[in-house]
Amino acid sequence: MLSYRHAFHAGNAADVLKHAILIQCLDYIGQKEKGYMYADTHSGAGLYHLSEGYAAQNGEWLSGAGRVIDETSEVWLLHRYREIIIPFWQNSKTYPGSSIIAARLMRPQDKAYCFELHPRDFELLHAELENDRRFKIIKADGPKGFVSLLPPPARRGCILIDPSYEIKSDYIDLQKHIAAALKRFSAGTYIIWYPLLARPDALSFPVSLMNLYQGNRCRIELQFSEKSPEERGMYGCGLVIYNPPWILQSVLEQDMPALAGLLNGTWFLEWEESARGDTD
Ligand code: SAM
Repeated sequence: MLSYRHAFHAGNAADVLKHAILIQCLDYIGQKEKGYMYADTHSGAGLYHLSEGYAAQNGEWLSGAGRVIDETSEVWLLHRYREIIIPFWQNSKTYPGSSIIAARLMRPQDKAYCFELHPRDFELLHAELENDRRFKIIKADGPKGFVSLLPPPARRGCILIDPSYEIKSDYIDLQKHIAAALKRFSAGTYIIWYPLLARPDALSFPVSLMNLYQGNRCRIELQFSEKSPEERGMYGCGLVIYNPPWILQSVLEQDMPALAGLLNGTWFLEWEESARGDTD
């Protein structure tokens, strides 16, 4: 039974990091004319109202996207994030989730597969994107389902894996599915989000992910509160990215101080090149 609703958290600090980096990855893959596949294994509801409903109840966005909307410094990572996010805020006081961000950045030749299991969030996502012919919205288990889509016909793809980690076995199961995906398509850009939590499986997860793939990869983390001794207290989040755009390293090194400063956090970056020196 799924109880997580992303609407409570939409636009929070974790979304800012994830979406700012997703935008960089899609910008990069979209530089070549040839179409790419975007897969979103955990899509959420698509679009979130910030001034009413769940997001307004918690107000998490105020210490995330709210701070970026109001800021003026123009480092590239935040500049691109603001370019995508602000029109939604100005037009309808909404915040775009990952699939809507992708819809905004994709070209006619690109194709997206978005998975969502929660019945209500699936309905909302479907309503947002049903008329977009580039998108297929699928009510099925994302981590299992996306593997069968690989490799994409044009051998170009960006895959966002953004679970809610509601089930204890998620950490182990995800690694199995990601390993299966890599066997079919090792050249893709994989973006895997995880929470920073004081529990053994969560703490070892990013290390395991960095060991699961030996090609170019990186790990970027943002800690936005004191490490909590409680297993349920999320004190930050991170992303492991396989085959990140080469340009992302310098963007993160230059711009993460500004992003982390704005969100009152600290950041950490680990960047590993393929032992074989492969590049995309
Ligand atoms: N990716 C979204 C974004 O950035 O805007 C947020 C996704 S939210 C963190 C995780 C979503 O995954 C929830 O909407 C939840 O209902 C959904 N979910 C949980 N388990 C799933 C599964 N096995 N397959 C597909 N969706 C799942």
